Amino acid sequence: MAASEAVPYAKTGGLADVVTALAMELSKFGHHVTLLLPGYRGQATQNTRRVVMRFSALVAGKKADVTVEEEFVPVMDASHPLRVFLVRHDPYFDRPGLYQEDHQDYPDNLERFLLFCRAVLHVLRILTEVQGEEVDVLHLHDWQTALCSVYLKALPDEYNGLQKIKTLLTVHNLGYQGIFPAEEFVKTGLPPSLFSPSDLEFFGSINCLKGGIIHSDAVSTVSPTYAKEIITAEYGCGLEGVLSGRIDGVRGITNGIDTTVWSPEHDSHLPARYTAANLAGKQVCKRALQEEFGLPNLDVPVLGVIGRLTFQKGFDLLIEIIPELMSLELQIVFLGTGDYNLEQRLREAQAEYSGKIGLYIGFDEGLAHRVEAGADMLIMPSRYEPCGLSQLYSLRYGTVPIVRRTGGLADTVVSFRPSTVKSKSATGFHFIDASSDALLSTIILALYVYEEHGMWNSMIKSGMSADLSWERSAMQYTKLYRAISKETRDRPSEC
Ligand code: ADP
Repeated sequence: MAASEAVPYAKTGGLADVVTALAMELSKFGHHVTLLLPGYRGQATQNTRRVVMRFSALVAGKKADVTVEEEFVPVMDASHPLRVFLVRHDPYFDRPGLYQEDHQDYPDNLERFLLFCRAVLHVLRILTEVQGEEVDVLHLHDWQTALCSVYLKALPDEYNGLQKIKTLLTVHNLGYQGIFPAEEFVKTGLPPSLFSPSDLEFFGSINCLKGGIIHSDAVSTVSPTYAKEIITAEYGCGLEGVLSGRIDGVRGITNGIDTTVWSPEHDSHLPARYTAANLAGKQVCKRALQEEFGLPNLDVPVLGVIGRLTFQKGFDLLIEIIPELMSLELQIVFLGTGDYNLEQRLREAQAEYSGKIGLYIGFDEGLAHRVEAGADMLIMPSRYEPCGLSQLYSLRYGTVPIVRRTGGLADTVVSFRPSTVKSKSATGFHFIDASSDALLSTIILALYVYEEHGMWNSMIKSGMSADLSWERSAMQYTKLYRAISKETRDRPSEC
């Protein structure tokens, strides 16, 4: 498995949680998983880590020295640990950010991830050709690793020992495609013929994700609804034609959550722990959260907001209705970082309503846990959401999600309506239009239901007991790995 981030090594978003949790779950199933990651700055160092490979890889016509460090991570309930390889090339990866600094993408991101892809394939070559290991499937995540499939297919002579390996590309967010100017194509070392509209070219630029979608043996994404959405012009970000052109389709496999990390019963980030049967600790978490954000300890609903401050997440819709919300009995706590303009608007709102709005601009893992536990409701007004993890964590923590009905939010939150109330299956609230009016009326509905303690507690309990584990998803991935591996085994040999 190759990815640009994975906890606890590096994280900017949900991808990092997903990659590690999936790799661990697959290990429990008995698969031998090796996780390949760039060796960034400041990774939690373990004294068990050792250098196992040194080689040079070609990028932009130059040779770059690569060091690979190996580490074994124990996996509970698995007979063997997870092997992690950190691919180091300090000029590219020993930097303050993963992809950007001061809100600006690194200008050499193409080279950085080209090198990573080349290094991944080099590692596979050493494993298979020198160390005699068998590799069945290379599971790639997002644009940063998508070019591995392209190199395997387009440079068969260079990678002839790896031709049996099947590739699965999982798209975690179609909004990030790895688009670079055409002049940089020469850096890839790929045949110039691949820079065409039927391949890596995308409106005159290079599109790494598009290359991966075309050249991988299978493509998946992280929820069934998002899999359907991305083959439409509204959500396809220009790649709807390429995605719908795959005859095997795009599989949607919903993410789970790592319940060893995200569990209100055991979470060491919380001031008190709790279960669905005894929610007393949640009240302690709420009071502590109010204090942490400098808000008065009032018995009013607390709305939590966590996430990257980007257009995708729709937080601007929420910012627009802050004056209306401030006339109601509630408090809001925001944890996020991203778009400077949104950060500024939040700072201004917090300054104006300091007794009712708490704000932390930045990334703080522990605080994310405390918001999930201490808030009563979590707001996710995403314009699109491939899967979304924050709402899954909130379900687990008894914090009722209010979400836009899109992608994984539609698949994982059961909306409040007469039939779901009757069957006690409602776990949250959906709204459909990406508008601040729709969001406001849904928040107002949720505030009414909050006052109906019996109904509210029933929603909390349904959410907390939902099956959000990785087991089911990992089984689906296993089926997909087997399906793509089987295709080759069953294919008659050429005459
Ligand atoms: P995405 O991957 O699009 O960012 P997800 O909902 O899938 O969105 O995952 C977001 C993950 O990142 C969650 O684990 C969430 O807790 C975490 N996260 C987002 N912003 C922050 C932040 N500012 N501080 C701490 N954790 C954050």
